[in-house]
Amino acid sequence: MARETDKALEDARLDTLAVRAGQRRSMESEHAEPIFLTSSYVFDDAADAAARFAGDRDGNVYSRYTNPTVRTFEERIAALEGGEAAVATASGMAAILSVCMALLKSGDHVVCSRSVFGTTTVLFTKYMTRFGVETSFVDLTDIEQWRDAVQENTRMLFLETPSNPLSDVADMEQLSVLARQSGALLVVDNCFCTPALQTPLALGADIVTHSATKYLDGQGRCVGGAVVGPAVHMEEVLGFLRSAGPTMSAFNAWVFLKGLETLRLRMEAHSANAMELARWLEQQPAVDAVFYAGLESHPGHELAARQQRAFGGVLSFRVKGVREQAWACIDATRLLSLTANLGDAKTTIVHPATTTHGRLSDAERDAAGITENLIRIAVGLEDVDDIKADLARGLDAASKL
Ligand SMILES: *Cc1c(COP(=O)(O)O)cnc(C)c1O
Repeated sequence: MARETDKALEDARLDTLAVRAGQRRSMESEHAEPIFLTSSYVFDDAADAAARFAGDRDGNVYSRYTNPTVRTFEERIAALEGGEAAVATASGMAAILSVCMALLKSGDHVVCSRSVFGTTTVLFTKYMTRFGVETSFVDLTDIEQWRDAVQENTRMLFLETPSNPLSDVADMEQLSVLARQSGALLVVDNCFCTPALQTPLALGADIVTHSATKYLDGQGRCVGGAVVGPAVHMEEVLGFLRSAGPTMSAFNAWVFLKGLETLRLRMEAHSANAMELARWLEQQPAVDAVFYAGLESHPGHELAARQQRAFGGVLSFRVKGVREQAWACIDATRLLSLTANLGDAKTTIVHPATTTHGRLSDAERDAAGITENLIRIAVGLEDVDDIKADLARGLDAASKL
């Protein structure tokens, strides 16, 4: 009798799902996941073609909306997030766009945290408004502002937690209650924590979005995204993909599958390095303040400790001084990559006020706490003593100005 391997995942835990969920094999019995680099599929006969086109029979038709390698990735990320279904997308922004296009309509209203990825803000303010969807922006951690912003036509609350770059933390259970009372969906961009550290659906969120480009890949190779949630909503999201085409490629899905296998180990290592670096930065005389929810001094610490299994890889700090000191610190480092990306094995350093948050007005930046002396680090997987030594060089240069 054949081994019942398909039953092995019924009660499996996160680490097992990360390595095995969704796997399917071709006739060649390969052990690793195969890459199906094919745009279309052949049918058994004309009746089969008709049935598959009509959706009366399972089976692939065209890779704009189904591909076995992409399907494996979708099933694996859905299993890790504890969602019914997932849809893979061409990028993290395509994931957010697909949720909006599939589940909102003209006349609807969105309440969005002010501390979201900059391009997400542009999507809501510049593009969604053209199609009659208005967005109000609120302070991530101020539940009263969320409550006051909800209108009769509010259909979505959107947030990231912890926030970039100051590590502010939102209470997802509280916001899910507000969403339910308002008849709105709570949508959480879980890019910074990944399901290895936090599962928003278990805390009451309706939908999770991902930029797979970051930690799901983990090694800075591919751009991709995902949406996870109830099957009824994912059918709508897949329907948008079928009509509009922001699809994940089979090759990228394969890279992300390999990333997922090591996700928890990497997230723990990122978190451990970031925690040690945050504690070290707090001790440095050239540093004014450190923002990392793992530190007891952070206002979001207790909530993060409740919602998250660890505190993630992103932290920020203020050097003593102004922009000159921050830039001198960045320019004197040698090892760290000067880039705005994150979620990579390689540690990155960036000056948010003039890059990731450069599009904000001075007033908006001040309100968001993105001062000119703030530096963000996305802590990688190098030896933390080497990261410290490099930053010590930077801090030394800043303090000599
Ligand atoms: C990078 C990022 C995105 C956008 O993802 P892309 O894959 O670059 O399109 C969305 N949200 C967060 C939090 C991000 O860091």
